[in-house]
Amino acid sequence: GSWGVVMASQSPLSELIRKKRDGERLEDGDIHSFIRAVTEGTAQQGQIGAMLMAIRLRGLDAGETLALTRAMAGGGRVLAWPPPWHGRLVDKHSTGGVGDKVSLALAPALAACGCKVPMISGRGLGHTGGTLDKLEAIPGFRVTQSPEEMRTILGRVGCCIVGQSEELAPADRVLYELRDVTATVDSPPLITASILSKKAAEGLSALVLDVKFGGAALTPTRESARELAHSLVTVGRALGVPAVAVLSRMDEPLGRCVGNALEVLEALECLEGGGPPDLRELVTTL
Ligand code: URA
Repeated sequence: GSWGVVMASQSPLSELIRKKRDGERLEDGDIHSFIRAVTEGTAQQGQIGAMLMAIRLRGLDAGETLALTRAMAGGGRVLAWPPPWHGRLVDKHSTGGVGDKVSLALAPALAACGCKVPMISGRGLGHTGGTLDKLEAIPGFRVTQSPEEMRTILGRVGCCIVGQSEELAPADRVLYELRDVTATVDSPPLITASILSKKAAEGLSALVLDVKFGGAALTPTRESARELAHSLVTVGRALGVPAVAVLSRMDEPLGRCVGNALEVLEALECLEGGGPPDLRELVTTL
């Protein structure tokens, strides 16, 4: 896709942080220069943390959220796929919850249906578990794959689940880890940009978003989840990712197991037609 050209802001990062700290709006150019400083490594950790907290406390409007997502998506590669796969490149991403092992069952299930699933996933965030951490409970499993390796795996088995890298969603790689240790995870604009910057790199035909709400999720109420779903679908479509969202309740863990290795086992049970009914139902719905 074409991301357009945005003039980077000339202001030093401290001035951009001050702007957001004081509740002012950031211009597209401001946001692009912040993200460029993040990916090029010129921003100090303290500056990135301060900007994340300013965004967490002051929020971003719809235009700023789109600019942030676009900037984060534009920093890396967009995966290109062989023409016979076009129309079958699909993915799912969740906003995160406890015991949520849906990706582990859904990706291979979709592959078995003839889809190609080039999933870029994440690690644990806040109190929610991470798909990459779960996969690494399998001895020898490697979640770092180059775009070329992803293509080989997709050709052979139809799905792969990998982490962000210097090539794929590089800005999210940095921000994701820092959000986890700066109490800035539960921010709708940061969640929107984090998820969609990864999905925009995948070159998808269709995306379903599992937006969770409740005590075991990042979003407490159905109302707040609806707003987050709206943000995700609108920004996704603006970036050329055909997206729909499902709201799902998460007041308690999904399935019966919580813990990386246990969740892998439960996902395998689900793939064999067993496992807990709530897990099977959500996998089927998505
Ligand atoms: N999943 C992500 O990839 N990012 C978030 O911010 C939340 C869930």
